[in-house]
Amino acid sequence: MKEVMIQFLQRQLLRWFDENGRAFPWRDPSASKYQQILSEILLQRTRAETVARYYDRFFARYPDWKALSRATVEELEEIMRPLGLYRHRARRLFRLGQDLKRRRGRVPGTSDELADSGFAGLYAINAFELFALRKRKPLLDVNMSRVLKRYFNAGEFMDVRRDKALQALANDVIEVRRCKELNWAILDLAALVCTRRSPSCGTCALNPRCLYRQRGLEARETGVPLNDL
Ligand code: SF4
Repeated sequence: MKEVMIQFLQRQLLRWFDENGRAFPWRDPSASKYQQILSEILLQRTRAETVARYYDRFFARYPDWKALSRATVEELEEIMRPLGLYRHRARRLFRLGQDLKRRRGRVPGTSDELADSGFAGLYAINAFELFALRKRKPLLDVNMSRVLKRYFNAGEFMDVRRDKALQALANDVIEVRRCKELNWAILDLAALVCTRRSPSCGTCALNPRCLYRQRGLEARETGVPLNDL
């Protein structure tokens, strides 16, 4: 049952993404690995549209790893300010720049090196492995978590960093050749269709098999309220 649901999700969402996926500069084929990875750090807890508006300004000032490794914390704080959480982000980018300087620009290639670098945190490490190391990894955040929890009826929400069952499920789901696109598809579905407060189940590509949708229909028939996820 789970396998069938996973295959349906993969097929439907890749097809849906080809027609409806959002275009962002970090998704453009011309974007470097550096731009893709740095963008993922900027995207944490920030709307993609906000980062898109800020993108050119950041990469004009820090176009490559070398430029980043020369930046001071104060300079990074200044340029991060419009995005919010600027002290936290500036410190992470600074650590990352210094780590790369120590390595003479060579990016980390193993889990141990990753843990030592500025990429603390599951999401950023997965983004790094997905874009830089071309491994199949999920960009698992609260948005991907919401789609997966609803579609698979996978229990209550926990912090994604501690939810091992959800992490295993996300790893299974993104096991496709077009792994990067499927990650983006899930995030776009979360932003455009499976939104937190009012999912548009009627027009969703996953609705024939989505268990949340089925529970909603049953709840309407029986009159038992469906707790929102
Ligand atoms: S059918 Fe509804 S709940 Fe299920 S994934 Fe689509 S929008 Fe989300």
